[in-house]
Amino acid sequence: MKNDSRAAFRSNSKRKTKMALYQNRLFRKLIQEFTMNEIAPYDAQMDATGTFDREIIDKLFRHGFIGCSFSREYGGAGLDKIYELYMLEEIAFGSASVALTVDATFLGMNCINKFGNETQKSKYLTKAIAGKSLTAFGLTEPSVGSDVAALHTVAKNVGGGYLINGQKAWITNYSVADVIVVFAKTAPELDVKGISAFIVDKDTKGLYMGDEEDKMGMRGSNTGSLLFQDMWIPKEQLLGEEGMGFKMAMATLDAARLHISAMGIGLMRHALTESRTYANARKAFGKNIGAFQGIQFLLADMEIRLYAARCMIEDAAKRAVKAEDYTEQAAMLKAFVSDATMKTTNEAIQIFGGNGYSKEYHVERLLRDAKLLDIGEGTAQVLRMIIGRNSLKRGGR
Ligand SMILES: Cc1cc2nc3c(=O)[nH]c(=O)nc-3n(C[C@H](O)[C@H](O)[C@H](O)COP(=O)(O)OP(=O)(O)OC[C@H]3O[C@@H](n4cnc5c(N)ncnc54)[C@H](O)[C@@H]3O)c2cc1C
Repeated sequence: MKNDSRAAFRSNSKRKTKMALYQNRLFRKLIQEFTMNEIAPYDAQMDATGTFDREIIDKLFRHGFIGCSFSREYGGAGLDKIYELYMLEEIAFGSASVALTVDATFLGMNCINKFGNETQKSKYLTKAIAGKSLTAFGLTEPSVGSDVAALHTVAKNVGGGYLINGQKAWITNYSVADVIVVFAKTAPELDVKGISAFIVDKDTKGLYMGDEEDKMGMRGSNTGSLLFQDMWIPKEQLLGEEGMGFKMAMATLDAARLHISAMGIGLMRHALTESRTYANARKAFGKNIGAFQGIQFLLADMEIRLYAARCMIEDAAKRAVKAEDYTEQAAMLKAFVSDATMKTTNEAIQIFGGNGYSKEYHVERLLRDAKLLDIGEGTAQVLRMIIGRNSLKRGGR
């Protein structure tokens, strides 16, 4: 490269970096404003009544947030997948329940985006991005969660289509989703290699919805069970190839671990913001409680965890964007963030003292919401299994 073309290349890439930074800041500002005006004011009410608010989700679609990271071909804005993380962090700051609804929608949409054929993508993604359909991800069953290989739901190839029988449990968006990605065994004798994934429309004959779960947290999200009774679907609804379902589920969960960690960061930021404000206002022994080292140390630990979580998510996201293997990093990130979020929300209650124990203040809700992070998309123990196995593989050096 000649000197002048090198300079031109440098200034061009500088311009591109600046534009990306600007786009990133603008996006953050927009989603922050949206969250503070349209989501946060309703979170306590959703929690108190255990009600899912479809209007909020519809607005998120109408403003183009949910579809922004999908290809322009299907109506998206073609932004980087990293924008899903910014979005979930900001939304979770205002309402972890709404963030979980969006997270579950991403689970289904990303699975179709990554593994669907052109016909499936243009049919389902276009509708989803336009806000005309909400998506769900159906993996867990009443008796099977962590041990995915033991799934009981069966999809029998009956020529021209599949006959599905079985049940799913704990499915987010179960009764509000228009489309559900369902995992079932097409060859039960092959264990994980016999699992396949299907796109199921809500109005399919043989699909029934159970009662909604009365949850301890994330009460503004919609969770429940699904029953499939001789549910016939055409062969065109198979996602990818028969037997690829386990790999698809695991790849989708890797990305989802980044998503749920971004939600944890949003929850931690909320707990920290409330704690700082309270520490600067509440008086004891003639001083603001923030003047006491005991309270400052709690705040300091919260800040440390938030900073560490930010560094970890940035690293894992970079690997994901570069299409490097990031299964272990995603597991470490989520294991760290779920512990950090539990500790941070718990310490926020401590800073609030008795008031922290009351529903009148926000912090007890944050702790209840945070517990889901320890369970959903890989429990704390399952994540450590992944990390521990990888550690052993690296051997003694
Ligand atoms: C609010 C909410 C929303 C959810 N949304 C969805 C959704 O949209 N789609 C979906 O498919 N699922 C969803 N889930 C289900 C969730 O993914 C499962 O609950 C989770 O995977 C754990 O499965 P399980 O509940 O069956 O627990 P189990 O697998 O039965 O585990 C019970 C306990 O045993 C531990 N354990 C299991 N195996 C081991 C082991 N080998 N070593 C050590 N400990 C072990 C677990 O860590 C856990 O502590 C949701 C759950 C909740 C609470």
